[in-house]
Amino acid sequence: MFDYLIVGAGFAGSVMAERLASSGKKILIIDKRNHIGGNTYDYYDESGILVHKYGPHIFHTHSRDVYDYLSLFTDWRSYEHKVLAAVDGQLVPLPINLNTINTLYGLQLSTDQAEAFLKERAEKISPVKTSEDVVMGRVGKELYEKFFKGYTKKQWDLDPSQLDASVTARVPVRTNKDDRYFTDTYQVMPLHGYTNLFTKMLSHPNINIMLNTDYRDVITFVPHKYIIYTGPIDSYFDYCYGQLPYRSIEFRFETYDKDIFQPTGTVNYPNGQAYTRITEFKYLTGQQHKKTSVVYEFPKAEGDPYYPIPTAENAALYKKYQLLAETAPKTYFTGRLGTYKYYNMDQVIAQSLTLFKSIMKDQPIEMQANGYKKTLQQT
Ligand code: FAD
Ligand code: UDP
Repeated sequence: MFDYLIVGAGFAGSVMAERLASSGKKILIIDKRNHIGGNTYDYYDESGILVHKYGPHIFHTHSRDVYDYLSLFTDWRSYEHKVLAAVDGQLVPLPINLNTINTLYGLQLSTDQAEAFLKERAEKISPVKTSEDVVMGRVGKELYEKFFKGYTKKQWDLDPSQLDASVTARVPVRTNKDDRYFTDTYQVMPLHGYTNLFTKMLSHPNINIMLNTDYRDVITFVPHKYIIYTGPIDSYFDYCYGQLPYRSIEFRFETYDKDIFQPTGTVNYPNGQAYTRITEFKYLTGQQHKKTSVVYEFPKAEGDPYYPIPTAENAALYKKYQLLAETAPKTYFTGRLGTYKYYNMDQVIAQSLTLFKSIMKDQPIEMQANGYKKTLQQT
């Protein structure tokens, strides 16, 4: 008898598996894919270059707890991601910063002058509700159209005015020269990759792993007390209220017989091309190799559900599933698909750590994992 049957071996499911196993529970973790790691899975391609199968994954977090927790299973390399955008025939920094403005407009503005420049152009919008409002309110129409309108249409097949404000709010605007994509306290990559991290995380004797298996095919004959579900929530309930929309992506990998392909980790293509961005893995991983591998991302409607689509309508539909989930006996939902949230890795990890604590809240326990020992406090 397993204590927990966990569906999905991405971060959401694997964190639950590891925490519960380390507190003495017997776990079966199931994934329909042929590997652990969910969307963060990485592997060495034919040329021996470490690539991310489901698109570039850059780890960043403000959370000391999340960083400390993952540090049980990996060493790190420091990595601050940088992005350039191809606009008006030039490659300029994204997020928009002082250098972006000066390069695009042939100016030599100071920070104060750049603030005035943006203030003059920004539109006064209140309340800020949509992804269009966010950007128009920060930089005005021209920069909005150069950097955000076309990219967002490609990525989501929606106009920014149809998307929740939180989507484009992920990308800040700066008037200094900071050209980092993220400003989190911890910006690191697992030294030997994500799959290696997951292998360590799931190597506990209380954890059994079943791959290439849809949980529906085994659930009736594997005895278990509880379910933790991290797949798409609408699928769990047989789409009883209709399908939740997701955005998918086709990843096209190329290997070039040269040391370096592009000047930075990612180049975004807001306009023109069918792909949104190209990422060169060696920047992310620090690998030395005489060839280089990149991935082009082509967003599409059909395919694996990668992105929940943050619109008011979809949030309302999710709410109905969430209410159903709250009544599902002995079943917990977590993760990007399980809770239909456009979450980064660290948010998913934090969400699962919180769920673990709430499951265990009545019984403070001693957890032990790879030499790490901590008494859980009741929260
Ligand atoms: P997943 O990793 O999707 O895991 C869910 C698992 O459940 C899957 O492996 C799936 O096969 C399995 N499953 C589903 N249904 C079933 C079933 N019926 N039976 C058995 N198994 C099932 N985050 C960052 O922090 N930084 C980044 O740079 C970043 N880049 C990203 C780039 C792309 C292109 C994408 C799509 C996402 C990116 N993310 C990034 C987000 C990150 O991928 C997620 O936050 C994280 O992987 C979610 O983990 P999860 O466990 O919730 O879901
Ligand atoms: N975005 C944009 N232009 C860009 C980069 C981002 O319009 O060059 C918008 C777009 O809507 C995108 C969102 O900002 O989906 C969030 O960007 P992020 O890079 O965080 O997306 P992710 O890495 O999650 O795909």
